[in-house]
Amino acid sequence: GAIYFLLSFPIARLAVSNEGGARMIEIENVRKSFGPLEVLKGVSLTVNKGEVVSIIGGSGSGKSTLLTCINGLEPIDAGRILIDGTEVHARGTDLNKLRRKVGIVFQQWNAFPHLTVLENVTLAPRKVLGMPKAQAEEIAVRQLTHVGLADKLKVYPGRLSGGQQQRMAIARALAMSPSYMLFDEVTSALDPQLVGEVLDTLKMLAEEGMTMICVTHEMGFARDVSKRVAFFHQGVIAEIGPPEQIFGAPQSAETRKFLSNVR
Ligand code: ADP
Ligand code: MG
Repeated sequence: GAIYFLLSFPIARLAVSNEGGARMIEIENVRKSFGPLEVLKGVSLTVNKGEVVSIIGGSGSGKSTLLTCINGLEPIDAGRILIDGTEVHARGTDLNKLRRKVGIVFQQWNAFPHLTVLENVTLAPRKVLGMPKAQAEEIAVRQLTHVGLADKLKVYPGRLSGGQQQRMAIARALAMSPSYMLFDEVTSALDPQLVGEVLDTLKMLAEEGMTMICVTHEMGFARDVSKRVAFFHQGVIAEIGPPEQIFGAPQSAETRKFLSNVR
C-alpha cells in the first residue's frame, strides 16, 4: 500500500497538470468573502470533460457565488480555478476569452425587449466575436432550433413563455460555442408546468456530452442526469458522490437533513 502510494503520487500529479491540454474545470481550495462574511470556505472540485455535476444545497450556502467565481465574474481570496489549465484569476488571463469557453445561464435573463429572439441570440457572436451577420444568424438559427424555438425567431421576448425565455437564454449561451456550461437554478423562477421543457433541454445537452455544472433544486434532474452530485453546506462541499450515494445512502448527517426537508 505505502509503496503504491509513493509511486502513484507523482503520476497522479502529472495527470492533472496543464501539460497535454487538460480539458476540465479544476477548483482548488477556493475561499471567498464578501466583507466579513466568508461565503466559500475552501471548495475543491474537478469537473472532467463531458461530465455533468449537479450542485444542491440550502439557500445562501455559496452555490451561485462559486459559479460566478468559475467564470471570473467575481474575484477569489484564496485557492485557484483552472479552465483547461488556464488560471481564471491569474494576472494576465484574458477573461473575455475565457468567458467564451464557459457559458452561464441564470435563473432569469433579461433579454433585450426591442430585439427579436434571433437578434438577441446573434448579438454576442456579432459584438463579442465580430462574426458577420449571416454567419451569426446561421449559428443562432441552429441553436434556437436545437432548443425547440425554430418558430420563434422573429418574435419579441415579451411574447415568450418563461420556459421559452429560458430556452432562448440557453441558445444564446450556446451560440458562443462554449466548452462548458454553468446553470444556476434555471428553472426556479418558472411555473411548475414549464419546468419540464427546460430540464429536457438540459438533459439533451448532457446527452450530447456537454460538460456542465448545474445548481438545481430539481432533485429528480440531479439524480437522473448527473454523474456526480455535490451537496453544498455553509460554504463547503459537505458531500460529493454519484447520485446513488447522495440520494440513496448519504454519508453526511447534513445531507440527510437537507434531503429530508426538500422531499
Ligand atoms: P446560494 O446561491 O447558495 O443561495 P449565494 O452564493 O448566492 O448562495 O450567497 C452566499 C452568501 O453570500 C449569502 O449570504 C449572500 O447573501 C452572500 N452574497 C452573495 N453575493 C453577495 C454580494 N455581491 N455581496 C455581499 N454578499 C453577497
Ligand atoms: Mg443561488
